[in-house]
Amino acid sequence: MANANSPKISTSLGQGVPPRVRFCPSPTGNPHVGLVRTALFNWAFARHNEGTLVFRIEDTDAARDSEESYGQLLDSMRWLGFDWDEGPEVGGPHEPYRQSQRMDIYRDVAAKLLEAGRAYHCYCSTEELDARREAARAAGKPSGYDGHCRELTAEQKAAYEAEGRTPIVRFRMPDETITFTDLVRGEITYLPENVPDYGIVRANGAPLYTLVNPVDDALMEITHVLRGEDLLSSTPRQVALYKALTELGIAKQIPAFGHLPYVMGEGNKKLSKRDPQASLNLYRERGFLPEGLLNYLSLLGWSLSADQDIFTMDEMVAAFDVTDVNPNPARFDLKKAEAINGDHIRLLDVKDFAERCAPWLKAPFAPWAPEDFDQSAWDAIAPHAQTRLKVLSEITDNVDFLFLPEPAFDEASWTKAMKEGSDALLRTAREKLDAADWSSPESLKEAVLAAGEAHGLKLGKAQAPVRVAVTGRTIGLPLFESLEILGKEKTLARVDAALAKLTA
Ligand code: GLU
Ligand code: ZN
Repeated sequence: MANANSPKISTSLGQGVPPRVRFCPSPTGNPHVGLVRTALFNWAFARHNEGTLVFRIEDTDAARDSEESYGQLLDSMRWLGFDWDEGPEVGGPHEPYRQSQRMDIYRDVAAKLLEAGRAYHCYCSTEELDARREAARAAGKPSGYDGHCRELTAEQKAAYEAEGRTPIVRFRMPDETITFTDLVRGEITYLPENVPDYGIVRANGAPLYTLVNPVDDALMEITHVLRGEDLLSSTPRQVALYKALTELGIAKQIPAFGHLPYVMGEGNKKLSKRDPQASLNLYRERGFLPEGLLNYLSLLGWSLSADQDIFTMDEMVAAFDVTDVNPNPARFDLKKAEAINGDHIRLLDVKDFAERCAPWLKAPFAPWAPEDFDQSAWDAIAPHAQTRLKVLSEITDNVDFLFLPEPAFDEASWTKAMKEGSDALLRTAREKLDAADWSSPESLKEAVLAAGEAHGLKLGKAQAPVRVAVTGRTIGLPLFESLEILGKEKTLARVDAALAKLTA
């Protein structure tokens, strides 16, 4: 229930004022898919509402942030196809957009909060805090910070200083209920006993996330904060800090908040940053298309419509409304992600498809010698490959038979396809293929069909040994097109080699 004193937060979208949203990751390690989903929803929200997307780098944790991670982050954002209106590389009216370059701002705001009594110095040591927390817990009382240093006298402070203690800066939470209307979850209320005073500046003077994030949102005039549910518990603190900033004339308004649902991984556990499945690089390396991955990630909490899973980012932008986001945890399903990516592969122009495969057609992925790559064979096979792949990295194994001197035999495929009588079938198939018209795949299909008939085998059973003899594997691209592209001479030589191997 809203307390009369609780701050008013705008939840209405638009109102004629274009929204300003932000994406503000910490550049630590590989970006993970949860982060990408947050970026996507902010981007779609900004674009749908013709607002501004601010990209800010939260790199105040010098121990964990690195220049390399910063570079990776920007590269990932560009690869995904995001554009931003303010931030690194594009600039904007609130520069700089890297928090590591904004330290003076935070120092200044912390000083103002202290001066106004909205924050205070706390001298408690970690041991003292722990001991009091334990005692409170044992007594069945709230175990957050107990306000010990809220009203220290000048003498008490001087005594602590004389002991050599250096204080942290703690924000003074107002003793009131905090209510806000989450754009995804509706009204949420926090009682004061559950939101104790909290640290905003470390003893060494380093400002914390709890300060720098809302201060920058205020200074950058952010209207809507869309972020993961893991940050929900920091919202009542931030709302209170915002209110103080508003009263001090530093913030103009309190933004609306929308918390995006958790993403669950294997075993219905929250997908963690450290989960290999969560790493964006994994999807890039496997050959996801950015548009396929984004389409899939958009479904983690949102949908375009009940009967349309595949859509473009333009379609998403046209339809996106954050109040449609489902607050329930979303399950990350790799199979579905791949299926959706495959559908996006199908949507590409064939030339575009062929170009996007390029990285997997050379070292370090390609097992063939560069000079054995045959451009015209590739041009001919590409449209067939496009109908089959789920991820681009699958291209290498699917076309290696065209460029290797002999097929890369897969042990299991050989055992499965080469059964009793396979040699007889292969001999007949060789004869028929030799006599076939090599200018069309239909004629090659008829040849194998006829060979099968001669041995009482249906096409599926008859083509398996031929496929393994020629490509090395039981599954692959459409067979007769593959044979035609490989050519008569090489195909027959491979059937002969397989026969020799069988009779050896
Ligand atoms: N840098 C914070 C993070 O990556 C941002 C959280 C927020 O959106 O407020 O978790
Ligand atoms: Zn204290």
